[in-house]
Amino acid sequence: MTHGKSIALITGASRGIGKATALALGRNGLFVVGTATTEAGAAAITTFLREASVSGQGMVADVSDDHSVTALIEDIVTLAGPPVVVVNNAGVTRDNLLLRMKAEEWETVINTNLNSIYRVCKACLKGMTKARFGRIINISSVVASSGNAGQTNYAATKAGIEGFTRSLAKEAGSRGITVNAVSPGFIETDMTHDLPEEHKLALLAQVPLGRLGQPEEIAAVVAFLASEEGSYITGETLHVNGGMHMA
Ligand code: NAP
Repeated sequence: MTHGKSIALITGASRGIGKATALALGRNGLFVVGTATTEAGAAAITTFLREASVSGQGMVADVSDDHSVTALIEDIVTLAGPPVVVVNNAGVTRDNLLLRMKAEEWETVINTNLNSIYRVCKACLKGMTKARFGRIINISSVVASSGNAGQTNYAATKAGIEGFTRSLAKEAGSRGITVNAVSPGFIETDMTHDLPEEHKLALLAQVPLGRLGQPEEIAAVVAFLASEEGSYITGETLHVNGGMHMA
């Protein structure tokens, strides 16, 4: 039972930015469904939500798979109702210079980071249209704006997400649905954990605030866009990068 709460879906909520976002939205009074790729990950989400006194649940989903996304949305509707806040956060990297990049590295990143946005948004739009309310927040990256050697695949997905965001915002605005992107800089998560130390230092040298961002600092911006206070912002990309890139 959702106790009349609005339902939020956050993909990739088992760790990092997605986990912080699930907690932030839950603390703002939403019923939260967070996804992981494994049963153990989904169970861990249910546990951390409960420990934070947030109503919600972890579920398994692979956003790179059509059937998995269809089943996920059906399960959420059955459990709690149609999600009206959707955070497309799940993402992966497969870094390589283009000359060495295998087709599999290109396709995995495009399918997981970009094709997933099509799948998840399309599956959730009907419910939002019916509710005449919706908030879609897509997680992009600073490299969509700045470019990054070794990340042609990843940067292409993130730039694609931003164009998708602007276009869907134009399509869905008349139905009370806002669509925005949040573009993080260099955030302390598993995704950045294994970068070589000299690479990290070189990146940090480009950050005027002189430190990595925390997942909670991205989650706060997502929560703002999902809230009543963010209701007149749509088609926008909010940059949260410590000054690393100023658009
Ligand atoms: P992370 O710590 O690596 O976590 C990735 C999340 O995505 C996990 O929950 C993972 O689930 C999930 N995931 C991976 N593949 C998936 C799939 N096929 N289907 C469903 N879920 C999948 O990542 P993060 O650093 O928090 O990044 C979150 C988002 O922010 C990503 O879109 C990333 O591109 C973006 N971003 C991150 C940074 C940064 O510096 N960290 C900067 C800019 C943008 P499992 O735990 O089950 O594997």
